[in-house]
Amino acid sequence: MEFSNDKLEFLRELVCGAPQNVVIAAHTNPDGDAIGSSLAWAAMLRRRGHNVTCVVPNRYPAFLEWLPDIKDLKINKLHPAEVAAAVAAANSVYCLDFNQIPRLDGIGELIEKNEHAKKILIDHHLDPPHEYDIELSDPACSSTCFLVYKLIEKLGMAAEIDLPMAEQLYVGIMTDTGNFSHSNLSAELFRAVATLVERGLDIPRVNRLIYNSFSADRLRLMGYALSKMETVGADPHRVAYMTLTEAELRRFNFRLGDSEGFVNYPLSIRDMAISAMFIETRQFIRISLRSRPDVDVSEFARRYFDGGGHKNAAGGKSYEKMPATIERFKKAVEEFFVTV
Ligand code: 5GP
Ligand code: MN
Repeated sequence: MEFSNDKLEFLRELVCGAPQNVVIAAHTNPDGDAIGSSLAWAAMLRRRGHNVTCVVPNRYPAFLEWLPDIKDLKINKLHPAEVAAAVAAANSVYCLDFNQIPRLDGIGELIEKNEHAKKILIDHHLDPPHEYDIELSDPACSSTCFLVYKLIEKLGMAAEIDLPMAEQLYVGIMTDTGNFSHSNLSAELFRAVATLVERGLDIPRVNRLIYNSFSADRLRLMGYALSKMETVGADPHRVAYMTLTEAELRRFNFRLGDSEGFVNYPLSIRDMAISAMFIETRQFIRISLRSRPDVDVSEFARRYFDGGGHKNAAGGKSYEKMPATIERFKKAVEEFFVTV
């Protein structure tokens, strides 16, 4: 999507204008794209003299720990007073890699309380609510990191992308595209990656750090989850689902981020329409959904599980127990394929 000149000028004034207190907020259970885009945008703003604080509701997965500047992130669960002070003092708040304020948990209320701060959305999820001072929202963009790259380019600042920024941006580009295997893989995207390589990006190193840095427990948990996979329905509407309860997670010494990616595997079964993963947490069951290109799971998540996301990668929540959630899921699948 091309953004209007008005929007870009508004952004340029904020970025190139007088130094400000800035908060960059990313979503709960932050992933590579949320963290990478926040850190790279923060680096760009700091170069222009802004006082930047990156905030996230809860911890990031261990496989991101090596990212440059990640220790500067303020985690609301661990340091609520620092996050509250930064948000209260902000002149502008950038919301990156999500568009629904409730996905910020408690940080959302802090942002709403700061009425004088400009609120800017930089995101690639569907259906942004129109509650920002500017929306730089592009659902056709495969990651928020790629969107941040394009904005930096449009502001004429691409020459300033150095190796740490290249690594931060690449992590989101790589993880949100499933290592360049999902949709929206434009020539422009590969040109951006080529630029990052010119800045010194070592792709095999980043691959190793992201994909080959798990524990043996994590691999065993994956094998366990896959071995319990169930399928329902028949072609062309076959659906696979996996469940993990809190007790099962404990048995495999579960660490945050360990279940990332499991949900993708059932889609490797020929003609599978949807893959779903149900993970029990103390408060609710978190649902991850993935789908074949022609099936819209963001619609499914919105309709049945109070969620949303992208056409082929979405998620939601259930406040019922696992058996009731699965019963509801099966009914939802039946109804969904009759009505689409
Ligand atoms: P994941 O399965 O990786 O946790 O999430 C995949 C995508 O689904 C995310 O990029 C996010 O856009 C979306 N998503 C996950 N959970 C929720 C949710 O509870 N609400 C909304 N609106 N989107 C979600
Ligand atoms: Mn993303």
